[in-house]
Amino acid sequence: MATIIFHIDVNSAYLSWTAVEQLKNGAEVDLRTIPAIIGGDQKSRHGIVLAKSISAKKYGIRTGEPVANAFRKCPNLVTAAPNHKMYREKSRQLMDYLRTYTTEIEQVSVDECYMDFTKIADKFASPVAAACEIKDGVKNKFGFTVNIGISSNKLLAKMASDFEKPDKVHTLFPEEIPLKMWPLPINELFMAGKSSVDTMKKLEINTIGDLAKADPALIELHLKSHGRMLWNFANGIDDSQVRSKPSEAKGIGNSMTLSEDVATYDEVQKVFKSLAQSVGGRLKKAGQKAMMISMEVKYHNFQTMSHQRQLSKPTDKEEEIYDAACQLFLESWNGEPVRLLGIRTAKLVDASEPEQLSIFDIKMPEKPDEKHQKLNKAMEEIRKKFGDSAVMKASEMK
Ligand SMILES: [Mg+2]
Repeated sequence: MATIIFHIDVNSAYLSWTAVEQLKNGAEVDLRTIPAIIGGDQKSRHGIVLAKSISAKKYGIRTGEPVANAFRKCPNLVTAAPNHKMYREKSRQLMDYLRTYTTEIEQVSVDECYMDFTKIADKFASPVAAACEIKDGVKNKFGFTVNIGISSNKLLAKMASDFEKPDKVHTLFPEEIPLKMWPLPINELFMAGKSSVDTMKKLEINTIGDLAKADPALIELHLKSHGRMLWNFANGIDDSQVRSKPSEAKGIGNSMTLSEDVATYDEVQKVFKSLAQSVGGRLKKAGQKAMMISMEVKYHNFQTMSHQRQLSKPTDKEEEIYDAACQLFLESWNGEPVRLLGIRTAKLVDASEPEQLSIFDIKMPEKPDEKHQKLNKAMEEIRKKFGDSAVMKASEMK
């Protein structure tokens, strides 16, 4: 049986989901039909563009640019505030719906997933017919649209879903590569970041086809193993599997780009609370527990930092994930405003495995005290740096 993979991607997810919610609440204008963005706020014009409508795109507005810039390009731009809790809910509804077709689904971000269609292929007239049914089903059921890319592997399916938008099904089978993929500019190749693209342009590689026909040894010389991977991608080669269960090594994680920089520990805690909730929930859903927790921060100047810790026993508990993330944050925060926060778990084990008592539990009953001592020490340090009110225990709050 030939492998068939779908890549399913929500069109302008944050913006579409917001539009759907607004319409449900009686709004008269559909954000998708006017120049509109998600991010920042209409009055202060702070923050960055997190998503844009198709007509905003026509003004040259790009995701990730400052909201103030976007207003310069289009003065009557409409903005809506991000609502990550609502996005997660929409995301969950979509994935639950897709799982009614098959459970062989790998969610790769809040609004996109791969589906291994191979085993259910015989239930449909063709992969395209099935994809159209799924795409229309999503639209009718939820009111937002998706693109679906179809191919024999994940990479080609992903490239295909990025063709003309919105609300479209595209195929990109290996025999279609020269016609549909090779003419595209090199920066449209999956995983071709800015610095790789700059390097390739110096080598006069301007299209994906140029890369496909280049000598892989030359690319590897300049871009190491990443270059080899890009060369494979340009030739449509990708043998990665659709992983419906999180892999033990990769773990489960979630991060949040904040619409405005956050400068207080209070606000950071709120973000971690919601991240811990989603990570814990996903671990439980996957029937897994994590032995390792890591926390990542991107500062306002785009500098990044991460810090991780092995746990004494595996957990899927929200509170434990939250505590670990906060502690890791306090241990490494330089006090600068942050733009992104993330929690990642790794070293996953089956939740059904009998919990092994760690040697600490048996031999070191004073462990909790040690944990408190560490926490108190971290709090002391924060207070020294940022003043007494910078941090307090929940139990101290009025
Ligand atoms: Mg999308």
